[in-house]
Amino acid sequence: AKRVYWFGGGKADGGAVDVALLGGKGAHLAEMASLGLPVPPGLTITCDCCHEFFRNGKKICDDLKADVLEGLKAVEQETGRIFGGSERPLLLSVRSGSRASMPGMLDTVLNLGLNDETVQALGHDAGDARFAWDSYRRFIQMYADVVMGLDNEIFEEVLEDEKGRLGRQHDTDLSAVEWQHVVTLYKRLIEDELDESFPQDPHVQLWKAIAAVFSSWHNARAVTYRTLHRIPETWGTAVNVQAMVFGNLGSTSATGVAFTRNPSTGEKALYGEFLANAQGEDVVAGIRTPQSITEEGRLASGSEKPSMEKLMPEAFQEFRGICDRLEQHYQDLQDVEFTVERGKLWMLQTRTGKRTTKAAMRVAVEMVEEGLITEEQAVCRIDPPSLDQLLHPTIDPRVPRHQIGSGLPASPGAATGEIVFTAEQAVAAEAEGKRVVLVRIETSPEDIHGMHAAEAILTTRGGMTSHAAVVARGMGIPCVVGAGSMRVDLRNETLTGTGGVTLRKGDIVTVDGSSGQILKGRVAMQQPELSGDFGKLMAWADRARRMQVRTNADTPQDARSARSFGAEGIGLCRTEHMFFEGDRIHAMREMILAEDEAARRAALAKLLPLQRSDFTELFTIMHGLPVTIRLLDPPLHEFLPKTEAEIDDVARAMGMSADFLARRIDAIHEFNPMLGHRGCRLAISYPEIAEMQARAIFEAATEAAKATGEPVELEILVPLVGLRAELDYVKGVIDAVAGHVWSETGMEIGYLAGTMIELPRAAIRAHVIAETAEFFSFGTNDLTQTTFGMSRDDAATFIPTYQRKGIIEHDPFVSLDFDGVGELIQIAAERGRRTKPDLKMGICGEHGGDPASIHFCENADLDYVSCSPFRVPVARLAAAQAAI
Ligand code: PEP
Ligand code: MG
Repeated sequence: AKRVYWFGGGKADGGAVDVALLGGKGAHLAEMASLGLPVPPGLTITCDCCHEFFRNGKKICDDLKADVLEGLKAVEQETGRIFGGSERPLLLSVRSGSRASMPGMLDTVLNLGLNDETVQALGHDAGDARFAWDSYRRFIQMYADVVMGLDNEIFEEVLEDEKGRLGRQHDTDLSAVEWQHVVTLYKRLIEDELDESFPQDPHVQLWKAIAAVFSSWHNARAVTYRTLHRIPETWGTAVNVQAMVFGNLGSTSATGVAFTRNPSTGEKALYGEFLANAQGEDVVAGIRTPQSITEEGRLASGSEKPSMEKLMPEAFQEFRGICDRLEQHYQDLQDVEFTVERGKLWMLQTRTGKRTTKAAMRVAVEMVEEGLITEEQAVCRIDPPSLDQLLHPTIDPRVPRHQIGSGLPASPGAATGEIVFTAEQAVAAEAEGKRVVLVRIETSPEDIHGMHAAEAILTTRGGMTSHAAVVARGMGIPCVVGAGSMRVDLRNETLTGTGGVTLRKGDIVTVDGSSGQILKGRVAMQQPELSGDFGKLMAWADRARRMQVRTNADTPQDARSARSFGAEGIGLCRTEHMFFEGDRIHAMREMILAEDEAARRAALAKLLPLQRSDFTELFTIMHGLPVTIRLLDPPLHEFLPKTEAEIDDVARAMGMSADFLARRIDAIHEFNPMLGHRGCRLAISYPEIAEMQARAIFEAATEAAKATGEPVELEILVPLVGLRAELDYVKGVIDAVAGHVWSETGMEIGYLAGTMIELPRAAIRAHVIAETAEFFSFGTNDLTQTTFGMSRDDAATFIPTYQRKGIIEHDPFVSLDFDGVGELIQIAAERGRRTKPDLKMGICGEHGGDPASIHFCENADLDYVSCSPFRVPVARLAAAQAAI
């Protein structure tokens, strides 16, 4: 295979499509050269050669050397310069360039080819000896760092000493002779440190520099960066060997970077900075403050320093034209680097520019309006999870963070408040007008009112489907769970973080639910704004999407916010969450503690009107859209008090003895409640509970239909079914109640009775279950838990270790395990459809809001995804992208 690709002089061997082979930089240099743009000629050594290099024990093979030398000849011809020549010497840059951008992680050597002779020739040729010696010392410094492994700092020390001795303040104050002396000092330093001298042979320099750039693929910071950004080790880096151009040849020279549009606002205006008389590294180093490229930008920044537009009008106009051309060509915002050498413009790089979500929206929408891209392309330009930036307050990325711990990013957005340790404290503090962060080891249903009162929630235990995570997401409250490195001491009311930082009740803490970080103190936030662009883009997404997007909503508040985010119905109403609100838990407890059916029915009678009014409200808000209501799911003990003090309180409130209560709690206790007496098992043991719920549902549906004049599209969902007979039994109860209510009200309410598919047995027996079920809703939280045999509440203790050790890539409770759980879904879908070809199917586990999982659902041909209210826009966008 071809090892070396040429570019320059209006021609190139490769192009933008060759990113995998030539790396981003090389591919786009080739593309720009082919477009006839001014690109210094050069060659790209492919990423494949990087693998070959490592296979050969870090040696550059002779074939590669021969190809590079041949390419170099062409560069010499194109530039009219000779590499190592004693007149008009050719200098080279040797730059890394991998497939994914890895800013600053890999190595680069500039000004290569200089030695004691060529430096003289360069000075002669440029008519600037000072420039030549400065370039030489820069080269030695960089080469020594990258190739010879000598720390840059020791050179800076020598330079500072020398400047001190000469009484000079800035580098620019040094003369040619003085730089020449610095070069002598540098070479001596290398000899002292390494017992070898700085190589004078340009070819030796070249081979060693190429080898060093390849080797930098495996340096520690690159490895870390790849792990963080999930860039495969196997990609390797290409190496670009290119003729140097100089931005530091006096006042008609400059170097800079620009975005073709503003990357933070998306405004269509060239946006960039440059430094006159400087090399690219000076811009990055931040020694001098760069100047604005455009006059408009200069005025906006209030800077006195002239813009490039004013200073070099010709080069600027050419540059602006090229930027327009690149945008047209790539149909996207570009991030470019350039150099002006004595008035002549050279393009050094172009790539897709990174941008904020707000800018991404605006750019995508305006490019559609400009006719540059299609609506569908625009929809694909936005990364769905990035919508969080628009929907929640986020931490200002520019401010320093004092991190004291971290956990799982369970519910996005960030919030600051005073620490409280109990729900009661949260409610009391909120009543005083305080903003609080509720810190718990884990939350339970009894904390709901405190969670409502809090700005954010932090738990030290639990995973992405733990109670705290699910409830916080539903409420749209930032939440971090499973912060295992932090310790909560409830007795002393302290929270201890990493480094032994201990915070007390009332201390200020910031929770970043988007990154999982816990920060000490108050941190500046950016407020969300929904622009008109958001509305336009989402409308295009809705047009492109096939699957419906519903919401998981348990309360009228959830339902309203989900509607405002565009939910097309409720895919899951977890009725148990309705029993935690206000005083209802008392009636619920009476029902649970009842020792016989009569007592239970009496308690249920108190719950009925409460449930009915909740459902009526939900149906009214959803106004004719589908609403899926699930029968009671959780184990009963979740509603009962736990600590002795709580038991005393509850016993007193209920007028029973603490002994009696403790005994009943004991009787209900389970070893594995997640696998215990829950789901349809409750409805089978106590059908009167299902009866009450069904009655509340049908009566509410009747009321809502009368009030709104629209029939309710009702779906009743039976949880945790593994056997068809379970579903038959519970459906029998529902159907019987429906009959009663119809005859009482004289109004027939249509409904579907369906089942959760959340146990492996249900997935495997889907064809049989589908004989009874009128729809399927995949409960991927429990299905993941039961397929892996990993408790969803305990997995957070070992999942991070699994990820670190490379045993799993993603947390399967966050992003669907396609291979295992996914295959069960496919099996269930296929078998279910075998029995009923039109069987409606959706997903309502937390995966319903995860873009990768949504792609999977599209491929499995599900009818809808259902997710927490604040995820709805993310799901709409991801579903559209999946369909495009
Ligand atoms: C599920 O198991 O995926 C589900 C949606 O139900 P829950 O999380 O309430 O168990
Ligand atoms: Mg479940």
